[in-house]
Amino acid sequence: MNLLIMGPPGAGKGTQAEVLTKELAIPHISTGDMFRAAVKEGTPLGKKAKEYMDRGELVPDEVVVGMVRERLSKPDCGKGFLLDGFPRTVAQAEALDQTLRELKMDLDAVINVAVPRERLMQRLTGRRVCRNCGANYNIWFNKPKEEGKCDQCGGELYQRSDDTETTVANRLDVYEAQTRPLIEYYEQRGLLKNINGDQEIKAVLADILRSLGR
Ligand code: ADP
Ligand code: AMP
Repeated sequence: MNLLIMGPPGAGKGTQAEVLTKELAIPHISTGDMFRAAVKEGTPLGKKAKEYMDRGELVPDEVVVGMVRERLSKPDCGKGFLLDGFPRTVAQAEALDQTLRELKMDLDAVINVAVPRERLMQRLTGRRVCRNCGANYNIWFNKPKEEGKCDQCGGELYQRSDDTETTVANRLDVYEAQTRPLIEYYEQRGLLKNINGDQEIKAVLADILRSLGR
């Protein structure tokens, strides 16, 4: 299956994607994770992306679009993929349509995870991520068994530098202005699956699988 998962920052895209991609045996393509890996490696792409990420702004479309095109061209995407955090602007969605046409691929569904804005600040400032395997936790809603340590691999948990209150507020405004219009873009194409993300993690997953007919 060729899937997109959309929703505001903190909606639970990464959390759901982690399980869904295992269940469906498809690669998880998170543009945020790709940028964070580039920042960590100190590549020119990482240096450029970091300026925008630290301010809670979007990395310019041309940078993201090229990176995603390259990733979707890899052979493992032939069996399907789950794009997480891309597209985030109408221009990116149009570029994705073009890339998929070139690669002779189609989207099967767009999962839109909705969560009220007032819940997102607490989810994001409480998020902790495993430095080793990228698994997501939350100090209030999804605690690891042992504080500061990943349940899956024992890796160290850290707080993302863009999960501070000021940066989160900006990211939520950027979502409203630039990304929310994509809901209509995919609704018009008949691809949208609206999911209530304001429930327990397992209930959200069950709703997503049901919407995909699994
Ligand atoms: P996104 O990828 O959409 O930005 P994440 O998957 O990283 O969001 O989730 C943001 C934070 O909210 C994480 O700390 C995660 O553990 C927590 N979280 C995810 N889903 C839920 C949920 N259904 N209920 C409560 N907290 C959640
Ligand atoms: P995320 O991990 O999805 O929350 O993304 C973290 C940050 O990476 C965002 O705030 C942006 O600065 C950048 N980013 C990730 N995906 C995109 C995208 N599709 N377009 C532009 N910037 C992005």
